[in-house]
Parts: sequence; C-alpha cells; structure tokens
Amino acid sequence: MTFSLHGLAVSSGIAIGRAHLVSHATLEVAHYQLRERDIPREIERFEAAFAVVKTDLGSLRKESVVPGSPSELSAFVDIHSLILDDPLLCELPKDLIRTRRCNAEWALVQQMEELVAQFDEIEDSYLRERKHDVVQVVERVLKALLGKQRKLTRRGRPDGELLIVVAHDLSPADTIQFKNLEIGGFVTDLGGATSHTAIVARSLAIPAVVGLHHARPLVHEDDMLIVDGTRGVLIVEPDARVLEEYRLRKSELELERSKLKRLKTARAVTLDGVEISLQANIELPQDLVQVKNVDAAGIGLYRTEYLFMNRETLPSENEQFEAYRAVAKAMAGRPVTIRSLDIGADKTSQALRGTERQAPNPALGLRAIRYCLAEPQIFITQLRAILRASHYGKVRLLVPMLAHVKEIEQTLMMVWLAKEQLRAEKVKFDENIEVGGMIEIPAAALALTPFLKRLHFLSIGTNDLIQYTLAIDRTDEAVAHLYDPLHPAVLRLVSQTIQAANRAETAVAVCGEMAGDPLMTRLLIGMGLRQFSMHPSQLLEVKHQVVMADAEQLALKVSRILRLEEPDKIREQVERL
Ligand code: PEP
Ligand code: MG
Repeated sequence: MTFSLHGLAVSSGIAIGRAHLVSHATLEVAHYQLRERDIPREIERFEAAFAVVKTDLGSLRKESVVPGSPSELSAFVDIHSLILDDPLLCELPKDLIRTRRCNAEWALVQQMEELVAQFDEIEDSYLRERKHDVVQVVERVLKALLGKQRKLTRRGRPDGELLIVVAHDLSPADTIQFKNLEIGGFVTDLGGATSHTAIVARSLAIPAVVGLHHARPLVHEDDMLIVDGTRGVLIVEPDARVLEEYRLRKSELELERSKLKRLKTARAVTLDGVEISLQANIELPQDLVQVKNVDAAGIGLYRTEYLFMNRETLPSENEQFEAYRAVAKAMAGRPVTIRSLDIGADKTSQALRGTERQAPNPALGLRAIRYCLAEPQIFITQLRAILRASHYGKVRLLVPMLAHVKEIEQTLMMVWLAKEQLRAEKVKFDENIEVGGMIEIPAAALALTPFLKRLHFLSIGTNDLIQYTLAIDRTDEAVAHLYDPLHPAVLRLVSQTIQAANRAETAVAVCGEMAGDPLMTRLLIGMGLRQFSMHPSQLLEVKHQVVMADAEQLALKVSRILRLEEPDKIREQVERL
C-alpha cells in the first residue's frame, strides 16, 4: 500500500531504493514470541552473544595493560566484565526466554530495565551512575545478538538497488559510519535539522529526512522507498506513476548539479569585485576527496571529535597527529582550521566512557572546551598533535564553546604548555600558529571584546548560536519548528559579531549550517561576511550565489532587513535579496 510521511528535509536530493531497517541498540529491539521448539536455539543464541562480548572484553583487557594506554581502560573492562558475569544479566533472561517464550533481545532488555530501575533507587550517586555501565554492557550483547545479518555491508545490495536506511534514531557516531558504506539515503523518526546526524548526512551528500515520527514502525524491510530530501517527504511503496515522476525529477536534479560543476574553477568574487573565501567543513581526512572536487579555499572547520567515535580507546597523540598532518599536507598551504574536541551533547564516544552524556541537560553541560579543560590530559594530547601537524601546512587551532574570559586564558595557557613541551623535546611546530574561538554562545557574541583582544580569528557557529539563543535543543524534533536562523535576535547577534570583527580587523567566518544555505549567502555577504565554511557538497551552490551578488547593494538592503522585527517580513525580504 502506498503512503507518505512528512518530516524535516535535512539533505537535499532524491533517493529511490529499498528499505533497510536499522536498529540502534536498546531502542528498537524486536519483540516476538517463540515457538516452543525454538526455545533451545534461542538460549544458544543468547549464550553465544555473551561469549562474543566476553572475548571482546578479553581483547580489550590485553590492550589495557599495554604501556601508555589510559588507566581508565582497565577499570572500565573490569566493571563491564563483572556486570557481564552477573547471573542477574546472564542467567535470569534465560528464564524469561523459557517461561514467557520471549526472544533473546526482548528478554535481555526487560531484565536491563528491571536492573536500571533498581539502580535509580540507590542514593549513592556513584553507584547510581553505574546503571550506564549496565546499559552499555547490554548494548554490546544486543549488537552481538543482532549479528552479521543486520550489519550493512560496504557493497550495498547485490541486485544493485540503492539501500535506504530507516531508523528510529541515529547518533552522529552511527551516521559517520555510513561514510564507508554505499547508502542511497536515510530517514529517521527523531532528530532536528541541525543535529549532527543531519550535518553528517549533508556531508555524505545523500538525501535524508528526519523527524518522521512513525517511519520505523510502518516501513518494512525491502519496501520500495522514495526519499525526497528537498521537500522532507518519504514515500513508501509508490505506484508506477509516482515512481516515474520522481525518476524524472531525480535526473533533472542531477543535471542541475552537473551544471554547477562548471563553477569549480571560477573565482568566488561578487559582481562588484569582492573576494569571498569559500572553505570546507570536514569530519574525517577521507572527506578531502570532496574538498578537492570543489576546490575549496581551505578547511574552515575540521570536527575532530569524529576521530574519537566508534572505538573503545582514545586515539593516541600519534594517531591524531597522522590524521591532522594528512589534512594539512593535502591542503598544500591553504588554511586548515582544526577544531579541538567538541564532544558532548549529541556527540558521544565510548572511548570517553559516556561520561559526557550523563548530565541531566547535556547541551548545557560539560561540552567542548568545558570538557577539555576538565580533562587536561586529553586536551594537551590533542594540542600537541595539532601543533606537530602545524609544521606540515597552514594549520590554525579553533576552540569551541568559549563563553568566559577565563576559559580563553586557560586554553591559551594549555597551548603555551603544549608548545613548551614540544620545544623541550625539540619537536617542530609552527610557532605562530593562530588560535581562534567559535562564537556560538550568545554571551560570547554579546561580550566580544575579550575575544577580539586575545584571539587571532573568530568563527561563528550558527547551529549552536541559534540553539542557545532560542533555547531549543537542536536534536529535538518536537521543537524543530522553532529553530529559525532568521529570528531577528539571531540575525542581530550574527551581524554584530561580523561587524565588530571587521572593525577590529580580526578575521571572521561562519561555519554553521547557515553558511552552506544558498538562501543565506546574500544576507551574510550584506552583513559584511567574507569567509564561509560549509560542507563541500554545498560549496558550488553557494559560489553560484556569490558570483551573482553585489556586495555594496546587499549591505544597504541588509541593513534595512536588520531593523525588521516580524519574522514573516524578514523571510520575505531575504528571499527577495
Ligand atoms: C555550530 O555550532 O554552528 C558548529 C559549526 O559546530 P557544531 O555544529 O559542530 O556544533
Ligand atoms: Mg557548535
């Protein structure tokens, strides 16, 4: 039966392919009742999954005794091993399988929920927090239970049709793994338009729709799907006429995209001769292929936290150095802006043991620079790696989530310390490396002078600036309709920051999603912005806007828009720019 669902369009284009349902750990385990004769086999499955996790933990234990490995690793392996061997987890669910004929995943999750509820009653906060360890162990066992047949492969479908991933929710860590797979598109029930999951989708340049609410329960494996990532629509089992219409639209879109490729070698200069620097945002060194394809003027934002995801242990200084150096060298003298670890909120890492997500309100918690200053060993390791890479290209260091002068000063102190260490070790680095700050907390935008005094450059993170100005969680689709880059308060903060930086002759860029939205290009040029950083997939479309713009005229028009208070009027005027 044909039906369609509407959500948030987060990555444009059209994908036509077959549904592949993806479960993310505990959220979506299958619930079914077994036939009597299948019970012994289900118990074997359950035991086999525990054995797999035991072996995995055994290998981790070996790593934990290697000199230089973090001391937390062995403590973490010990706790997880104890939980894994606890009969409450490894024996009791078997009774549920036998007596209630539950499938293994269901039995395990029921028992986990029981245990977590007991932990919630504990007064001692340290012990109470151990419930996260229980959940993590159960997630490991569930992954082992889901086994190979549920894993996406590099090759896609054997029949050559595209795979469309359908999930209840995907974390940025899940989504980044798609970079190595052949995925045609994806849809999720949860998520906001500037959640990091959506941002990664844009970087993959595959159509995606989030916030669909009911896609996961309504779609079946192998259903034929159309993802319209431009309009935010998912069509399930379309009839022949609709399918034909979308195939046509898809080829038209592809034609438009290929026309844009002609702009690759064109200079990004406005009609009145103002040079605009169009740089790229990347998550991993492998994104350089796309960066080269559009000939970006540099890397305006390298989100290094993705190097820390989907792994049990932290990347060593050397591993980080290799990754940063690869980017610095490949950009051959063009600027490479490496952002220090922005972990926390929706970006989590097993290697950091999930400590960053246990806060009651993670987007307002120990995120980004706050986390790094609280974990100086992790921070200094990364700073050393970035400094070492600075010897191989024009590397700049960018610090996220600064709000307080003392945070800037502590950060600069850590940079000084890392430099001192390297000097003492006679390791080469760029002594004049520039250090910049992200302006993504309203407090920073409103009290900018200390930033201008102490830092070499600024980069406006509009994704967080909007989240914190409008007090809406960027990952929560329930408030996604309130996420508005054109809110007058947001526009004022962005334009004031650009103008103050221009007056102080401090370089300023925008590296949030606003920079990659062609509807915003003229507005930002009119505010005085000359540096944009965005996903490479959006760069040529933005360049198309730049070459048709007149910066002087736009400055006049935009100054009038900034005086408007009514969102509808603002939008109307911006669309007419
Ligand atoms: C931003 O907040 O706009 C930004 C670029 O950083 P991130 O999206 O990684 O939080
Ligand atoms: Mg941010």
